[in-house]
Amino acid sequence: MKAVPLSRVYLTDEVRAAAVAALNSGRYILARECSAFERELAEYVGVRHCVLVSSCTAAFLLLHHAMELGPGDEVIVPSHTAFPTVESLIHVGAKPVFVEVDDTYCIDPAAIVEAVTPRTVGIIAVHLYGQAADMERIAAIARERRLWVLEDCAQAIGARYDGRRVGGLADASAFSFYPSKNLTVLGDGGCIMTNDDRIAEQVRMLRDHGRRSKFTHELVGFNLRFNEIQAAIGRVMLRHLDELNAGRRRIAARYGARLSRVVATPIERPGAESVYHMYVVRTPDRDALATHLKTYGVETGIHYPVANHQQPAITTRFGAVRLPRTETLVNEILSLPIYGELPLEDADYVADRVIAFFESR
Ligand SMILES: *Cc1c(COP(=O)(O)O)cnc(C)c1O
Repeated sequence: MKAVPLSRVYLTDEVRAAAVAALNSGRYILARECSAFERELAEYVGVRHCVLVSSCTAAFLLLHHAMELGPGDEVIVPSHTAFPTVESLIHVGAKPVFVEVDDTYCIDPAAIVEAVTPRTVGIIAVHLYGQAADMERIAAIARERRLWVLEDCAQAIGARYDGRRVGGLADASAFSFYPSKNLTVLGDGGCIMTNDDRIAEQVRMLRDHGRRSKFTHELVGFNLRFNEIQAAIGRVMLRHLDELNAGRRRIAARYGARLSRVVATPIERPGAESVYHMYVVRTPDRDALATHLKTYGVETGIHYPVANHQQPAITTRFGAVRLPRTETLVNEILSLPIYGELPLEDADYVADRVIAFFESR
């Protein structure tokens, strides 16, 4: 029997050699490799500034501090996202206002309009599963109501929207380089990107004890820095990102062609090009399908089984809200194996098993 993992990291001798070279360089924190990785990431996305930090969660925390978010502020976020999208909001005293997603699993612009109150200061658009949110409509809503917009790009590095890469489409963005993401540093890591000089400078200081020079602390900051070995790994990964993302798109096209008669397959937004961090199908028979696939060696996942507006950490602080569409979809979604180097024959094996499951019903 085959064993098809949900995902697998890209790890080659080129990656190993880069890590060893950085290890032997004698510099370990925020030195040459980090500066080069920041430059290359900014150029790749097409933004003025990239600041490396220790994770995407840290990126949001520092952005919220730089934007002076605080108690009384409300921020509109999709409930259907990873919990870290909202965690940092709560650390700075702001309130996440959860809304529904649309058919692409990204925040529903119509739901944003309904959620705005006089206390609303901003919106976090999550490019979930690798597909850009509806940024044009979100930007129009934000402009009219004088709100800022942040992009959560943790799952979407390389994805395009109207030909432009995500991460430079709003006031600032946050990325993750965690091992499961499309671009990983084989550890924790992340960055902020922005075209705003002030935000970039604030985050740059805040990540390193609020200083610009060694012994002068202009702000009370944090230690949420990045390191040389992981930057060196990330630089190699970035050179292979487009080919790995293209591999994901090939797998997604194959799954789509074969599976759309039996399950709801992902919808690509017109003008958007997803990088398929996850390949998520939807069916009311989700649990039975997952069990069937497991018996045939196919690993699956659920991203995410509990909506954020129903997480205990949220309901105990902010009370209960109802989001019926989200509450239904979390019981029907299933993530199928996908990664850049997944062989097409493995994708066909997965598709065969999914089709066989529905034919045997
Ligand atoms: C992974 C992820 C994060 C958090 O990233 P870390 O680097 O682990 O802090 C945030 N948002 C989304 C959508 C994610 O998938």
